[in-house]
Amino acid sequence: AKSRGPGRYKVYDPSYGELANQRSLLLYDLRHAISQRQLSLVYQPQFCTDAQAITGVEVLVRWHHPQRGLVPPDQFIPLAEQHGLICQITDFVMQTGIRELLEHQLLYKHIPRVSFNVSATDFNGSGSCDRFIKNLAELPGDWSVIELELTESAALINLEGVKRVIEVLHDKGVQVSLDDFGTGYSSLNTLRLLPIKEVKIDQSFVQDITNNSQDAKLVRTILAMAKALHLRVVAEGVETHAQATYLKREGCEEFQGYLYARPMPVKNLVTFIENLNQR
Ligand code: C2E
Ligand code: CA
Ligand code: CA
Ligand code: CA
Repeated sequence: AKSRGPGRYKVYDPSYGELANQRSLLLYDLRHAISQRQLSLVYQPQFCTDAQAITGVEVLVRWHHPQRGLVPPDQFIPLAEQHGLICQITDFVMQTGIRELLEHQLLYKHIPRVSFNVSATDFNGSGSCDRFIKNLAELPGDWSVIELELTESAALINLEGVKRVIEVLHDKGVQVSLDDFGTGYSSLNTLRLLPIKEVKIDQSFVQDITNNSQDAKLVRTILAMAKALHLRVVAEGVETHAQATYLKREGCEEFQGYLYARPMPVKNLVTFIENLNQR
């Protein structure tokens, strides 16, 4: 029998149908977003300990939908991953990011490293290595300015594909960072299997370090381990001086977060760097 009320069987949930419908509409729009020039990029600088110099920038995609307004990447990136649109987005982001930074004479000269977020499905198929190489082809210099930020789930879902492509790119100088570090379930194994140079402490840890002693200890342990393994550590989502102070005391040397700079379009980045250099 079909149960009613708070029973175990849900017969019909109107909110589910509604949600599925919204997602398929969003997906429909996303398919046209690139060709209709609705995607753009913002750049968030990362800083060394004294905040005087930029150590790198992370490229983040933005979708300005004509009716919906700004759609957050947390909403459309997973959708793109599920429906085979992520490669198109990654290619757009890498090519556009490199072009914008070169056009404004930022890359190499003022920005020693640019980081792109990549997904598991970016490493699917035999053509994926060539795709990355093609995306980097416009670079006039050393490929070690490029860093790919990989989440653990991406690394593990598609370990074989990831490993094959990463090893080729790594030989050409490209660096690899493990994103959202600490939130996955076998971070250490990922570190063993891939040529990882940097880990990014997830912002959920950083947020609580000043009022949760457990998180503070975890962060301390991550930093000690990274040091022993000669990994660079970037703390992400740093919002307060108290967080920054704790992280510095524990030996963290790179910082990213609203305390230092929000993600910004390339024009603002130019001004930001000019001001930084004048200080
Ligand atoms: P992520 O890679 O962990 O990126 C960091 C996110 O934290 C960004 O959100 C950034 O704007 C935000 N953030 C930076 N500093 C602070 C801070 O001090 N406080 C707080 N609360 N947040 C801060 P965003 O841009 O909304 O991106 C969300 C996620 O979407 C990213 O998380 C990344 O996983 C994904 N994403 C963004 N752009 C791309 C892309 O081009 N390709 C792929 N595959 N994923 C992307
Ligand atoms: Ca990232
Ligand atoms: Ca993160
Ligand atoms: Ca993330």
